[in-house]
Formats: sequence, structure tokens, C-alpha cells
Amino acid sequence: AAARSLTTCIFCKIIKGEIPSFKLIETVHSYAFLDIGPVSKGHALVIPKDHTVKMHELPDEYLADALPIAKKIALAQGLENYNILQNNGRIAHQQVDHVHFHVVPKPNATEGLV
Ligand code: 5GP
Ligand code: ZN
Repeated sequence: AAARSLTTCIFCKIIKGEIPSFKLIETVHSYAFLDIGPVSKGHALVIPKDHTVKMHELPDEYLADALPIAKKIALAQGLENYNILQNNGRIAHQQVDHVHFHVVPKPNATEGLV
């Protein structure tokens, strides 16, 4: 199926290059970039190149492509401690209505914050 895109969606704009981003990895199905408001240094987002609001609506080929990219980011950053987060719906803290996986490094005290 052809990838869906929404002109008013900020993440669709990032995929199209209409909003600048710090790209980490790109595949046919996914785009990974640094979060603009990092919780910690290296905080990344992995998004499908298909405008889907919630994970249960996302076609499997996009879903299957996303986690290996999160894995590559964790490996490339040499992360030992990190969280993978994926929010669906306002009550669950989803702010951007385009599926995304957070890769959030957990630095130890001596590594400091951002
Ligand atoms: P949510 O709360 O929806 O799970 O997370 C949305 C994330 O998208 C937030 O961490 C926020 O900092 C990030 N974000 C929102 N707008 C932009 C943007 O224009 N560029 C980038 N790189 N990240 C964004
Ligand atoms: Zn979108």
C-alpha cells in the first residue's frame, strides 16, 4: 500500500524535509531523528513513513521496520541503560498524532544530563 501523508502533520513534514531535523537513520519504511526537546542526550524518535495516529492502526510492514532501527540507535550510541517509549492517545501523553517510538538514553549521575 502507498504511504499515507498528511500536509498538516509535523512528522509528515519532517519526513518530506519541509521541517528540518537531525536525521539518524532512514529506510524505505522509517525515518529516525533526534528529538527537539530531549529528555537526555541522544533522545531519538523512530517514525513510520506512513501517517498513522496510533500503533494499532499501523500496517505491519511499518511496525516491523521500526524496532530494529531503535536497536541500531541503541547499539550505535553504546547504550547500556535506556527506555523505549511509545504513547497512544492524549491521556497516555501522545502529543504528536503520528506514530513514534522514543529511544531515551538513561545517563548515570557522572554522565550528567543534556
Ligand atoms: P509524544 O509526547 O507525542 O510521545 O512525543 C512527541 C515528541 O516529539 C516530543 O518528545 C517532542 O519533543 C518531539 N517533537 C515535537 N515536535 C518536534 C519537531 O518539530 N522536531 C523534532 N525533532 N521533535 C519534535
Ligand atoms: Zn504524519
